[in-house]
Amino acid sequence: MRKTMHPESSMMTHGYQPEWSEGALKCPIFQTSTFVFKNAKSGQSFFELAYGLRPKKSKESPGLIYSRINNPDLEILESRLCLWDEADSAAVFSSGMAAITTTVFELCSPGDIILYSEPLYGGTAHFFEKILPRFSIRPISFPAALGPASAIERLNRAGGKKKLSMIFVETPANPTNDLVDIAACSKFAAECSSSKRKVVVAVDNTFMGPLWQKPLSLGADLVLYSATKFLGGHSDLIAGVCLGKKDLLERVRTLRAFLGCMADAWTGWLLLRSLETLKIRMSEQAQNASRIAERLLKYPQIERVYYPSLLPADTPQGRLYASQCLGPGSMISFDIRGGRKQAFKFLDALKLIKLAVSLGGTESLAQHPATMTHVDLGPKLRRRLGIGENMIRLSVGVENYSDILKDIEAALRAF
Ligand SMILES: *Cc1c(COP(=O)(O)O)cnc(C)c1O
Repeated sequence: MRKTMHPESSMMTHGYQPEWSEGALKCPIFQTSTFVFKNAKSGQSFFELAYGLRPKKSKESPGLIYSRINNPDLEILESRLCLWDEADSAAVFSSGMAAITTTVFELCSPGDIILYSEPLYGGTAHFFEKILPRFSIRPISFPAALGPASAIERLNRAGGKKKLSMIFVETPANPTNDLVDIAACSKFAAECSSSKRKVVVAVDNTFMGPLWQKPLSLGADLVLYSATKFLGGHSDLIAGVCLGKKDLLERVRTLRAFLGCMADAWTGWLLLRSLETLKIRMSEQAQNASRIAERLLKYPQIERVYYPSLLPADTPQGRLYASQCLGPGSMISFDIRGGRKQAFKFLDALKLIKLAVSLGGTESLAQHPATMTHVDLGPKLRRRLGIGENMIRLSVGVENYSDILKDIEAALRAF
């Protein structure tokens, strides 16, 4: 028997007490910028703690001061997010990009190297390649399926292991669904760490988490999310999350307070609502996606399907899927016969499935990575990463899978 309840059982109540709010069953929206101190002494004490002027007493929790520093909706949300990823601590942000950029800026300094798996989410790749070098932080990429050790020569040429501060991975990679071995990353990070300097492994778990992949249990130090996607799940908010050990999160949370990129109370409240249905949404979406991916293999107009549970079990990627993932998720990519013209015809013929970027919501979405989410990579890099002009990326929603399939079949007949 588990010692604690399953997270889906705790999502309606954890961290909130009705007597705080006139007995309200649901946690209200604490739409306030500032909080009233009981007396001057307690105000002083809250600030001492907030600025780290003295250590926290046992059982003391940080007092509410000002909504850029803390807010009940965000604190309750953070405590519930910790249950899913079995993390000590969490911080929520105004976007996935805010979570990523704040975390990287806190943990990497000028002169450092950041190793990252490729392909990455377009916004993250742009930040690493175009913005970090302005702060003298050097990005070095490695192909997702080959792992960080494959970049050792370039790492050595750039100054060696002692300059490495972070390994940043996104697995499955977007849109190819290539898997990165998280345990191998943490082993490599340990080899590059010294007693003075710990190399941090950060995993963008947006595609699989927190249901189908638990990076902290595989040795990662930090988990990042675009909560805009599955965590929010209704395509109606923008938010981000960073989770991990207390000491790292304390640092990330402090920089968040000074950059001012926390989520607002309303977004926090929407996410609390969303987490109550996270398991049933993600389970239904993954079940739909599995059925659809299997079926896509049978259409003559489709050349190749990229979906984790279709990886042959006797390949390194197939073995990695079996050991690292708890389910296949609901992101499918596939190559249709032809090129951009056929891909556009297919996308324009879809009716139920909407043509939009983003993912993880209740509705199914399709898009064309080569001209949309991954246009910034340029044709050479796209070719190297296997992102063709004939590739479609599908985010499968909670509709009835047979209706999604009918929509796909009708669109395939259109060319
Ligand atoms: C969407 C996304 C992001 C960025 O998140 P925003 O909430 O849009 O800022 C980062 N990583 C991945 C994998 C994403 O899909």
